[in-house]
Amino acid sequence: MTITLEGGSAPRLRAPGRLFIGGVWRPAAGGRAFATLDPATGAELGTVAAAGPADVDEAVAAAATALHDPAWARMSPSARGRVLWRLADLIEEHADELARLEHHDQGQPLEVAREISVRGTAEHFRYFAGWTTKIEGATIPVSLPDVLHYTRREPVGVCALITPWNFPLMILSWKLAPALACGNTVVIKPAEQTPLTALRLMELCEDAGLPAGVVNLLTGGPETGAALAAHPGVDKVSFTGSTETGRAVLRASAGNLARVTLELGGKTPVIVAADADLERAVAGCVQGAMFNSGQVCAAYSRFYVDARRAAEFTERAADLAGRLAPGPLISAEHLARVDGFVREGVADGAALLTGGTRVDGPGYFYAPTVFAGVGDEMSIARQEIFGPVMSVLTYDDPAEIAGRANDSPYGLAASIWTGDLTTAHRLAADLRAGTVFVNMLHTPDPAAPWGGFKSSGFGREMGAYALDVYTEVKGVFVNLAC
Ligand code: NAD
Repeated sequence: MTITLEGGSAPRLRAPGRLFIGGVWRPAAGGRAFATLDPATGAELGTVAAAGPADVDEAVAAAATALHDPAWARMSPSARGRVLWRLADLIEEHADELARLEHHDQGQPLEVAREISVRGTAEHFRYFAGWTTKIEGATIPVSLPDVLHYTRREPVGVCALITPWNFPLMILSWKLAPALACGNTVVIKPAEQTPLTALRLMELCEDAGLPAGVVNLLTGGPETGAALAAHPGVDKVSFTGSTETGRAVLRASAGNLARVTLELGGKTPVIVAADADLERAVAGCVQGAMFNSGQVCAAYSRFYVDARRAAEFTERAADLAGRLAPGPLISAEHLARVDGFVREGVADGAALLTGGTRVDGPGYFYAPTVFAGVGDEMSIARQEIFGPVMSVLTYDDPAEIAGRANDSPYGLAASIWTGDLTTAHRLAADLRAGTVFVNMLHTPDPAAPWGGFKSSGFGREMGAYALDVYTEVKGVFVNLAC
């Protein structure tokens, strides 16, 4: 089977419909497969293998073997860095093809796929290529006489990397780049809705010179993810997805005691102060809410606007959102879910200013939607919608706003729009969120930590913090007196 995309040269996966285990492309042991669709048309792009328990066993065994294979275990840090750098080069050489695969499989606009997803992926591999030669231990001044003590930072082992469907390639790179930089081996389980760029990335990993078994890929659904997370041979699970599934991953870790990193859902509060530059704030807030049809973990979602500027803000935001071209949501089920939240917002008495309808035709498009007059307890102010929906609330007293914004189980990101430095820094300290964006879009950077407070998860990706979750610290005592 070929993955067929219209326009340009059709990318061809070397072995579509197969799993990548121990350097070999092979069908799923049970022979099962499933289709992946283009959310903009609903058309089938191709079928991929559904990995079962026997495949999970094989992939974990291949990763465990590769962990001690001298070709990987004894590869110098500088050589490991060169492999990651080469992989970044290959990603850039194949940027157009990867972008078109992501565009069709995920539904994100082609420019977003190219400029954010593929470029961001290459940048992550480059950033972590630089770290391979800088993963240092310490000498510790222990008080035992004549004893030298030092620490080593060693790979955790076999890492299960389980990813969601909203930014499939880029989120995989957030995990894969640091895992490899630290010398681990991995088994990847991409989201069932969007497996194609991960499959193509495996081919580029082969071409970059990663030894067989260092990266393994299992396509499949939730059962494949669950079997992998619970596998006794897995040492670490890095999971990005919903909070509910994150809890299941954490429960599974009670069995294998895998180290767990969870990047979960969010409900980003955005505070628009009275002194904000409203033109910039509206443009940034609407883009922050509607980018990738709102299918962004840090999507700007609930807007607390100073009551004195609220009418102007909502009018401009609704006007701008109403002029945006609707984008596709990932699936018919997700479209129904988003529409369900919108119907609840209407039933709860919020004022629907624009949108609130699905768009006729093939594919799963939903009109950019803006609600005003939203109350703190309404579900559109509390639940993660993961769609193109803005909920605007107002505030009178700036002193109350951090408390209201923090009144949420989530704590992934927050945003502040103000012209006043004191307001910006005070709120940045008071908001319970892993990342705060002041007067800007939610833009991650490979060098800056990313992760959640509260039910948005724990552990950090990106930056030097990512090295902590992909290494174990070993202390070595040496008796110098003998
Ligand atoms: P999901 O939780 O449904 O699925 C995520 C992945 O987990 C998929 O690969 C799925 O097959 C797998 N899975 C399902 N059940 C499993 C189980 N029991 N054990 C192990 N794996 C299992 O999430 P989704 O719908 O694909 O993604 C959307 C969610 O991801 C949103 O909540 C969003 O906020 C979150 N997200 C968070 C971040 C972040 O950085 N915090 C980034 C992107 C997306």
